[in-house]
Amino acid sequence: MKPAPFHYHAPTTIEEALATLARLAPDDGRVLAGGQSLVPTMAFRLARPKHLIDINGVAPLARLSVEDGRLCIGATVRHAAFERPVVKGPLGELLADVVQHIAHKPIRARGTFCGSIAHADPASEWCLVAAALGGEMVARSIRGTRVIAAKDFFDAIMTTALEDNDLLSEVRLPLLVPDTRFGFYEFNRRAGDFAIAMALVTYRLKDLKIIEPHVAIGGVEAFPRRIAEAEAVLDGHVPNADAFALAADAAAKAVDPLDDAMNTPEYRRALVRTVVRRALERAAS
Ligand SMILES: Cc1cc2nc3c(=O)[nH]c(=O)nc-3n(C[C@H](O)[C@H](O)[C@H](O)COP(=O)(O)OP(=O)(O)OC[C@H]3O[C@@H](n4cnc5c(N)ncnc54)[C@H](O)[C@@H]3O)c2cc1C
Repeated sequence: MKPAPFHYHAPTTIEEALATLARLAPDDGRVLAGGQSLVPTMAFRLARPKHLIDINGVAPLARLSVEDGRLCIGATVRHAAFERPVVKGPLGELLADVVQHIAHKPIRARGTFCGSIAHADPASEWCLVAAALGGEMVARSIRGTRVIAAKDFFDAIMTTALEDNDLLSEVRLPLLVPDTRFGFYEFNRRAGDFAIAMALVTYRLKDLKIIEPHVAIGGVEAFPRRIAEAEAVLDGHVPNADAFALAADAAAKAVDPLDDAMNTPEYRRALVRTVVRRALERAAS
């Protein structure tokens, strides 16, 4: 099938993009970034936007930079940009590890980091990264700029704090201090599929004990989030198999898994136990 007819708009400055969005969002206008989620839904006529506002010609949105201890990822930075570390230290390595699990190479060449965050699929790896690390989302419209913390950004399945006429111009991730350990583990049935469950953990060691643990789960609930119960178990513990098993149990108990035609909540809960333990083992290795 072909998409329903639409009008195409190609702004070349951020101001023009915001003005176009303000004018056309009320008339079913949508931002087009990499098109890897929007275009397939248009081809199936599940989405029929009247206007597409293509932001790919807005040069400043391609910016990828480090400022004030944060990695700033502009709205048109592609997934593929992260296949090699974009910054020295654990954050660059973490992003290079996680990106391999996003779809397939051609999709990674077009799809954008910010597009994934705006789209907010429950199984998006970048949404998990933003939730785990405490990312900040920069939403711009003609009314001004809002910086929204990850914990306040994701509301429900594919629903975020973005308004219809907001452009997610940038996502900021805090750099990780050099001794941060991280582990990512994803379970899906075929390589490149969306995750059925995944976990991202980070922590540091002080006197051989875990400090600053972050344990986040994705693909399981309506949106990725940190699991305080699992973090409390790890805090102050030696990183060993017992602590990891206890944290994995705590995470499995704490989640409220989605129920869909393919996977029962019980199955997803069991997977949480496994992905958390394996992510912790990877962080320790
Ligand atoms: C076969 C297949 C497999 C995939 N597997 C995975 C996977 O394993 N993991 C994963 O995370 N993703 C996966 N994806 C999705 C892919 O990563 C998309 O690139 C991503 O979800 C959306 O990014 P995009 O730049 O393509 O956004 P688009 O498709 O252009 O837009 C998606 C939505 O977000 C809005 N939007 C985009 N950018 C902005 C912005 N800056 N401000 C405001 N709104 C915006 C659009 O209006 C639209 O509603 C898969 C896609 C396909 C086709």
